[in-house]
Amino acid sequence: MRAIVVGAGIAGLAAALSLRRAGHEVTVVEQAPRLTELGAGIQLAPNATRELRRLGLLGAVAARSAHPAGVSFRTWSDGAEICGYALGREVEEEFGAPYLQIHRADLRDALAAAVPAASVRLDSPVVGIDQDETSARVRTAGGGSLVADLVVAADGIRSTARQWLFGPDEAVFSRTAAYRALLPAGEVADLGLPDTGIWLGPGRHFVHYWLRGGELLNVVAVFGTDAAQESWTARAEPGEPLRAFDGWDPRVLSVLERAGRVLRYGIHTRTPLTRWHVGRVTLLGDSAHAMVPFQAQGAAQAVLDAAVLGHCLADATADDVPAALGRYERRRLPRATSMQAASARAGEEFHLPDGPGARERNARMAAHAAEHRFMPVAAAWGVDVLDERPGP
Ligand SMILES: Cc1cc2nc3c(=O)[nH]c(=O)nc-3n(C[C@H](O)[C@H](O)[C@H](O)COP(=O)(O)OP(=O)(O)OC[C@H]3O[C@@H](n4cnc5c(N)ncnc54)[C@H](O)[C@@H]3O)c2cc1C
Repeated sequence: MRAIVVGAGIAGLAAALSLRRAGHEVTVVEQAPRLTELGAGIQLAPNATRELRRLGLLGAVAARSAHPAGVSFRTWSDGAEICGYALGREVEEEFGAPYLQIHRADLRDALAAAVPAASVRLDSPVVGIDQDETSARVRTAGGGSLVADLVVAADGIRSTARQWLFGPDEAVFSRTAAYRALLPAGEVADLGLPDTGIWLGPGRHFVHYWLRGGELLNVVAVFGTDAAQESWTARAEPGEPLRAFDGWDPRVLSVLERAGRVLRYGIHTRTPLTRWHVGRVTLLGDSAHAMVPFQAQGAAQAVLDAAVLGHCLADATADDVPAALGRYERRRLPRATSMQAASARAGEEFHLPDGPGARERNARMAAHAAEHRFMPVAAAWGVDVLDERPGP
């Protein structure tokens, strides 16, 4: 069959690879003139790396990743450890796949290198999608049009395909934003930072982890705000992050002080839908289920979508497409929707004000870590999406 994938982000490229492995011919249509990713990291939990292995990409991705040993949760003011969990060898032994941290550009390069360049059309914004009983058609800004048996709209959080399929609907501001920065490891070597650290405080949390085999420190500092700006390239005002994290552990402040270019990104989500597909056209990735990043699962869920999509379409013919997309939707929509909710709940827990609620949270986390080697979100890491039974 012929498939068109709209969008060459992590979701679209993973979907293209999965559909190609299922034996289909795929064209990826991307609005940007070049495939670029901004400087920032992404964590890949074992549920994602298991599928990257199936796509034949784990070697390339792991070679460009940092391999964390563990994560340490800390209190905002003095950096005292609340609890710690394993992320290294133990994860691989338990879940059969590693926990990796990678620069987004490296991940996108690894995915893009596996998709034949001739099947990616850059500089081609999609301006319309329509379908009839036997085919689906994508129109591009230059007046071109492409016909296929199915269309996968992996056009991200600002998806227009979602509106064409399901009517007016906008991204929702989460009332949180993130300062993001990358620092050379040498600039923070004296701080004795834990391997992966998550500091929790009232209305804020601060995350750091390493990239490129420990050469770079990736920083994500999340704070509550009413300013909804959403852009990967907007810069924070000089001194703004330090003011926002005033009074925090001196190590957190030193990192923010030493960070040169700090970007500011308003975090948005999409309201869960009850359907992702109409006929031969389906959503996939952030277009379907953009979530707050507080469980580091947004891209992972997109990779799982791609795996299940390829699986459901493996033996399908053109006539089967609507039913196969229905199976994909039934398998993925409930899982992704519950991960959206779990990610939002994690943010509420992380940001509790000082007082009895935060003390109870810390005690709960310490008790959990005393009994479990892995974070609560690890319940999702063990699920092999290709072994799951489809929903009703
Ligand atoms: C601060 C932050 C930290 C995060 N950390 C993690 C993490 O650690 N782990 C994790 O798993 N997830 C993380 N995420 C989530 C993750 O970044 C997203 O879920 C993921 O990047 C979504 O990929 P996507 O391909 O669906 O969307 P996008 O990356 O937005 O890609 C969409 C693509 O579609 C193209 N496009 C859009 N419209 C059109 C059109 N009309 N025609 C043609 N092309 C079009 C765009 O140009 C783009 O290339 C984080 C998110 C944030 C905000």
